[in-house]
Amino acid sequence: MSTEQIHVAGFAVSPHHYIHGERVASEVLFDLYCPIDQSLLGRISEGTAAHVDAAIRAALAAFPAWAALTAAERKPYLDRLAAEIGKRAEAFCQVESNDAGILLSRMKHGVVPRAMLNLSWFAEHALTLQDRPMETEQATHLVRHDPAGVVAIITPWNSPLMLATWKLGPALAAGNTVIVKPPEWAPLTSSLLADCAHAAGLPPGVFNIVQGSGAGTGAKLVSDPRLARISFTGSVPTAKWIARAAGANLVPCSLELGGKSPFIVLEDADLDNAAATGALMYRNAGQVCLAGTRFLVHHKVHDAFVAAMRGYVAQLKVGDPRDEATEVGPIIHPRQVERVQGFVQRAVDAGAEVLWGGAPHPFGAQYYAPTMLTHMQQSSEIVQNEVFGPVLTLQTFADDAEAIALANGTDYGLGGVVYGDTAHATAVAEQVRTGFIWVNSFGIRDLAAPFGGIKRSGVGREGGDWSFEFFCDVKDVVVPKKPFRASFSHR
Ligand code: NAD
Repeated sequence: MSTEQIHVAGFAVSPHHYIHGERVASEVLFDLYCPIDQSLLGRISEGTAAHVDAAIRAALAAFPAWAALTAAERKPYLDRLAAEIGKRAEAFCQVESNDAGILLSRMKHGVVPRAMLNLSWFAEHALTLQDRPMETEQATHLVRHDPAGVVAIITPWNSPLMLATWKLGPALAAGNTVIVKPPEWAPLTSSLLADCAHAAGLPPGVFNIVQGSGAGTGAKLVSDPRLARISFTGSVPTAKWIARAAGANLVPCSLELGGKSPFIVLEDADLDNAAATGALMYRNAGQVCLAGTRFLVHHKVHDAFVAAMRGYVAQLKVGDPRDEATEVGPIIHPRQVERVQGFVQRAVDAGAEVLWGGAPHPFGAQYYAPTMLTHMQQSSEIVQNEVFGPVLTLQTFADDAEAIALANGTDYGLGGVVYGDTAHATAVAEQVRTGFIWVNSFGIRDLAAPFGGIKRSGVGREGGDWSFEFFCDVKDVVVPKKPFRASFSHR
């Protein structure tokens, strides 16, 4: 058991794994840097095959007793877990802002309250799960949602706390035991979650964390045949790797992936409103899977829309995410900064025009100016691929059919935004092939609603009952209404 801690913004965080209710240190450590200024935050334990094996054994051992509890008996554990997050709200905000570069204001007002709700909402919703009877003429079908077993949860760096709890809530509430593999570029708030689990009295082995790289620790975890489910949020290439590993063992996996979502501005749109929402796409320096990153604007309103959005973008405050006035923070890692620069350079070399931005931002080495590119072909790299940075593209269209064709003209299908007269925008939205789409709005979410993508943007849905369908084994217990007598002519 290791009691060693690192200190981030004055808050203590364990740099080690959490297995069977104990902190476990590795001999091999990796360096973790702050995305704001590349200062060293600490040295973090890297999980080996032995750590992955220990976590799976702990989760397997804890499963029967945890699964045997009713949802009502599990609920107080999840409510206490949520309460422990609340008690440490300031630590979660400061640590994730330093570790992942998420805006402090967003952590306080959005992420931490949502993380708590992810646990308490699913704990409550699980009460409705058991024995939803289905009556037919012949029988009563007791449709049970049984816990599946040990669940691996793999999260990305762009919203580590929110995404870990979004999966943990339903997985634990349904009676599974879990192993979280947090992102190696931002693992610290997952470690704080382990402190919360400990304080909330979760039985040892119900909640485990093994830290480390994707190719090392992550790959070992998802290749293990003892898993019952893999819930992954991240990039398409990683998802393909995980799907192959899971397929080898026939372990079901849920894949929430990237996007290249359209932001459509129809000729009857409220342009000022659309432009104000458009500037929001730079939030988290554009490192948001569901952002509308491809602007498709009716040619008649192009000039007015561009002028309005330019005005909003000019007002964005780029800076230190720990300053609550900041609206656009850093890019997570130097490698990601290079990637963003590469995309813009190649687009410009191929003939794209820069409407604004198009260069590093003077605030610091990890910053890139909010950018809008135009004059690209639909087939160009910048239109077809997810940049995951503060870089948007703008194309024009002449009618709805062209807007819909452009919107549907990529391999992605996560989300979308349509601005226009409500009936008109809704009709267009219905024809865009994505998992969700917002009409005259952006980012409205409800835990009961389905969330997920189609095409390369993912497999499966999270949220409400969809999360439980994934994390549970659905079983039909059939009880006949009349005495049953065996007969070969009976179907
Ligand atoms: P990534 O795929 O590189 O990594 C995600 C996680 O997978 C990390 O924890 C990583 O260590 C792990 N991983 C990598 N290789 C692995 C392997 N072989 N086996 C097991 N685990 C492995 O993604 P990222 O760069 O961290 O995140 C950005 C991506 O996530 C973007 O594409 C973004 O759109 C997507 N994303 C999607 C959603 C959504 O809900 N659809 C939400 C947030 C982010």
